Amino acid sequence: MAEHDLVIRGGNVVDGTGAPARTADVAVDDGVITAVGGVEGTGARELDADGLLVTPGWVDIHTHYDGQVTWDPEMTPSSWHGVTTVVMGNCGVGFAPVRKGQEAFLIELMEGVEDIPGTALHEGIRWEWETFAEYLDALEGTPRVLDVAAQVPHAAVRAYVMGERAHEEATRDDVDAMAAVVETAMRAGAVGFTTSRTILHSSKHGLVPGTTAPLDELYALADAVGAAGHGVIEIIDDAFAAGGNHDQLVELATRAGTVTYSLAQAGFAPEAYLAALQHADDDAAAGRAIVPQVSNRPTGMLFGLQSSLHPFTTHPTYRAMASRPLAERVARLRDPEVRAALLAEEPATRNRIAVSLMQRWDQIFPLGDDPDYEPLPSTSVAAVAAASGRTPQEVVLDWLLERDGQAFLFAPLASYVDGDHEAIRTMITHPGTVLGLSDGGAHCGLICDASMPTYQLTHWVRDRSRGERLSLEQAVHLQTGRTAGVYGLHDRGTLAVGKRADVNLIDLDALRLHPPEMVFDLPADGRRLVQRVDGYVATVVSGQPTFENGVPTGARPGRLVRA
Ligand SMILES: [Zn+2]
Repeated sequence: MAEHDLVIRGGNVVDGTGAPARTADVAVDDGVITAVGGVEGTGARELDADGLLVTPGWVDIHTHYDGQVTWDPEMTPSSWHGVTTVVMGNCGVGFAPVRKGQEAFLIELMEGVEDIPGTALHEGIRWEWETFAEYLDALEGTPRVLDVAAQVPHAAVRAYVMGERAHEEATRDDVDAMAAVVETAMRAGAVGFTTSRTILHSSKHGLVPGTTAPLDELYALADAVGAAGHGVIEIIDDAFAAGGNHDQLVELATRAGTVTYSLAQAGFAPEAYLAALQHADDDAAAGRAIVPQVSNRPTGMLFGLQSSLHPFTTHPTYRAMASRPLAERVARLRDPEVRAALLAEEPATRNRIAVSLMQRWDQIFPLGDDPDYEPLPSTSVAAVAAASGRTPQEVVLDWLLERDGQAFLFAPLASYVDGDHEAIRTMITHPGTVLGLSDGGAHCGLICDASMPTYQLTHWVRDRSRGERLSLEQAVHLQTGRTAGVYGLHDRGTLAVGKRADVNLIDLDALRLHPPEMVFDLPADGRRLVQRVDGYVATVVSGQPTFENGVPTGARPGRLVRA
């Protein structure tokens, strides 16, 4: 008779606390870790971890699986990358609460802000809820491969309470009603409340409802979170990233408990992130939980003939062929006459932000078959054009046509001002920050950063050559114990007796990110960028292997996490 349900035998255990790695066995019973060390008894199932890393499952706190979670039990691509817990509902957008008749509005918002195909959301979501508590109940009723935790989004709350007036200023009564909705949602088990303060997030209806809400409204909703006694406020914001508005963050944290906000190195204020980190030091000293949320590589757009944007997207010659199949476009773009016509044109749009994004020639790089997210400045479009006597447009066109038109170019949006990852290293190793911003499940046409947890090991522990790397122990801690801790998920994130048995067995030498690819597997044949990976030998959720060597086992032990 076996003494344990599962024993993971003889791995290099990196336990998520930051403690030194050690060779040990891990025993699991009833989904919980019951021993870490030398385990004498046998397991009904044994996994041989000799030569492998054994880590806690990754906890990704910044995703947008709010729709996909209702139809896809496999939760890809995050599940491929060893993620065992995702937090959804970020950036103020989501699908609950919702009144009958408002479903399309929330879908349009998600489509506009997070670039998730509306047709996929329309076909995929079954809308078995109205209140946030009912949404949680619906999630609870569906088994899946990983655990999910949900946050209540400001825009949905506004639409629920204010209906058609969701974009307008709220009355006192509106604010009281919203606060009641938020408090009820938090008490039902939401792990946070989220809001958008960025002018970059909008839909055809305008900015995300709540973006310009006066502070009184934000503070009232923070009080509602505080009254529930748990939870995080997540804010996606331009001004905070530039180091401003710290007093407001202090006020929100005082009322609610924990606040996390997006931080990156902005091109328009390249030193501002240092001021934000200084604030984080001050906050830690004062005992305030204000946590800048940072990413381990630049949030990067992927330009390509299959993605939503590239430098020729608005050129008349390209527009005329834009809806044609990829192979046909590639053939036409290789035609010397078509090529000459295209290269003689300018972007045909008045949207200056779009034009400047498409033509930052010093910030566009080939991503490559072995994706390089820290490319040398000498490999940019601008540098290669100058060195080879071609125009930037000629260089970009050639690159877009590589791999039969399936190549992607990497165009960092932020945190690549200096042409390396030193600013990022400063941010992710700061003791007051938390890793996030992967946007798993979102930005399907332009960004694929759900692989960030894998990158934490491939780049930051193993491959980085252009600056310091992280220790294995620190890198793992940042993606497990630290992320779980900020969200109060104290039952997971470390490998210790009594914790949930969410575990990765990783062959670090074999760990490899594939190039991103466009697939058409969402409901209604919706497209999305995904990124495959090799090297996860097994992922275990609640004691059950969910993936072995990249293949789903069929086990679906993942559940809803209620705060
Ligand atoms: Zn987001």
